[in-house]
Amino acid sequence: MPKVVSRSAVSSSTDAQPTASSAAALRVYYCICGEFILVIDTNLSALPRRQSDQSTIIRCRESDTAAARVFKLNATSGDPILIERNGGHERQYRFLCPRCTLPIGYQSTSPPVKSGPFLYILPGALTQMQGQLPQGALDDE
Ligand SMILES: [Zn+2]
Repeated sequence: MPKVVSRSAVSSSTDAQPTASSAAALRVYYCICGEFILVIDTNLSALPRRQSDQSTIIRCRESDTAAARVFKLNATSGDPILIERNGGHERQYRFLCPRCTLPIGYQSTSPPVKSGPFLYILPGALTQMQGQLPQGALDDE
């Protein structure tokens, strides 16, 4: 009797990875007064921050290397202000909470939001929990 050798086929896995974008959950952020401010397709803490003021950087325009974030900002625009930076000034067009008028972010171009390449969210300005202080909100620097 010949010996029967059974070989199990090696299956090459061609399973497609689920796309990250389709699985991304929207996050909602509130002002410390409880007003809804921002809905965005990622966690703010996962985004890069500016060296100069630790603001969170939200990309509004697609570039060669990075996709624009999908988000909606609920804020009123305030007067532009000038900030002194090393070797010059920086103009910031501020966005304010529509209820308590606390500044929550800014961009370098005049409103509306997304008119420039980036939107910046001030550190400690927003929280994911309505009615709860964001981490770092009371830090004195
Ligand atoms: Zn507010």
